[in-house]
Amino acid sequence: MTDAVTIIGGGLAGCEAAWQCAEQGVPVRLYEMRPARRTPAHATGQLAEIVCSNSFKSDEVNTAPHLLKEELRRAKSLLIAVAEATRVPAGAALAIDRERFAAEVTARIAAHPRITVIREEVASIPGEGVVVIATGPLTSDALAADIQRLAGAERLYFYDAIAPVVDAETINYDVVFRAARYGKGGDDYLNCPLDKARYEAFVDALLAAECVAPKEFEADKASYFEACLPIEVAARRGRETLRFGPMKPVGLRDPRTGEEPYAVVQLRQENLMADSYSLVGFQNSVKWGAQKDLLRMIPGLERAEFLKFGQVHRNTYVNGPKLLTPTLQVKHQSRLFFAGQISGVEGYVESLATGLAVGRWAAALIKGRPLIPIPRASALGSLINYVARCENNDYQPVNITFALLPPLAEAEARRLRRKPERRARQIALALAAFEEWLRMMEAAPAMATDGEAA
Ligand SMILES: Cc1cc2nc3c(=O)[nH]c(=O)nc-3n(C[C@H](O)[C@H](O)[C@H](O)COP(=O)(O)OP(=O)(O)OC[C@H]3O[C@@H](n4cnc5c(N)ncnc54)[C@H](O)[C@@H]3O)c2cc1C
Repeated sequence: MTDAVTIIGGGLAGCEAAWQCAEQGVPVRLYEMRPARRTPAHATGQLAEIVCSNSFKSDEVNTAPHLLKEELRRAKSLLIAVAEATRVPAGAALAIDRERFAAEVTARIAAHPRITVIREEVASIPGEGVVVIATGPLTSDALAADIQRLAGAERLYFYDAIAPVVDAETINYDVVFRAARYGKGGDDYLNCPLDKARYEAFVDALLAAECVAPKEFEADKASYFEACLPIEVAARRGRETLRFGPMKPVGLRDPRTGEEPYAVVQLRQENLMADSYSLVGFQNSVKWGAQKDLLRMIPGLERAEFLKFGQVHRNTYVNGPKLLTPTLQVKHQSRLFFAGQISGVEGYVESLATGLAVGRWAAALIKGRPLIPIPRASALGSLINYVARCENNDYQPVNITFALLPPLAEAEARRLRRKPERRARQIALALAAFEEWLRMMEAAPAMATDGEAA
């Protein structure tokens, strides 16, 4: 067994994993294929390049994204520290200067005495040693094919179009109505009714909205998207196309008017996040700021907060519950870890957070210490619990939300009537549990074995 950890991918997860591992005293070889080999979305050769929005989401106390960041701060995350040092004004959000962020992370990683950065594509999973695969949603084709072999035919997903997801508590229930088309399937959908004027205004705004520039992989896959066409592409085919596609009103009667609306946007409850709804068939590549304004034009969503925006891009991720343990190791091959978006999480902070955990676990494995799973009560623990234990056949990556955290005990939930109080209590429990995990990881003695990975 080699005494260094091999980390493949110098993105958000890979850099955080490398730093954590090295800070635990374990040497790291960090492989990054850029700049020699590019991805369809990255533009530079810097490590930890942020490919799209510059937001690390809300840093407002009492929100789930803040809680996750707070845990990372307490675990001395390199990337959160650099994000704070390079932040730009953005209200309650932690937004960063992308170039300064990537440059600073690259410099800090390069200067670490225990990290060696190797600028090479890794085309197959190394046959020995402790290996962290953190190659992200745009993993190179050769390595993706090898991961496919490891995971089995069913277990590596390529997901190209994402519909927006809205926080259920921000929907205007005075406007939407519950019904399924022709009354079939119960009242599973919430329906946002549009009259002709609102429909026309929505189509105008959609046609005018700025979209993310099509990347080469999107062009390659244009025909594949026919089955789930982005709404802006559908609208360009004709003003009525959406009314005969995802916005068709047939079979839906608004109980307030007794009539079929001119057009409808249907919201479907997400199976996995009971307090959120996806906008059915609303995958799109409108830029996130403009997309928020656009979607808020839909009646019932005037004040909506979006947990996820529509996106059209390639996404490579393994089926976590089938492949991974609660310490993000491959079942039956414990020397292999997955971290970042490819492990089945979504978002910058979520990705680097799993990198932090895996960096510490990989170091523990080398040092012959026990790998202690993170308690589910914490934000990071609940995220990883979702990855490893979610029981849904249609597994999809998620962002951190309170829906992933365990609910409060019934008596406590009854005592704390106001939602902010309940959230504050969940946060206190989460931070205590996370700190306890940090303490246990520090204190755990080397095991009696020689620490060889299975
Ligand atoms: C087009 C697009 C837009 C996105 N927009 C957002 C957004 O606005 N907000 C958000 O939160 N998330 C967004 N995401 C998701 C985002 O990619 C992740 O949140 C985050 O970057 C994932 O971090 P990661 O470390 O897992 O992957 P990455 O940050 O992508 O890092 C993976 C690294 O591995 C390298 N690599 C790949 N294959 C190999 C190989 N075989 N050998 C060596 N190196 C390799 C890549 O070059 C890359 O540097 C977007 C994703 C895409 C594709």
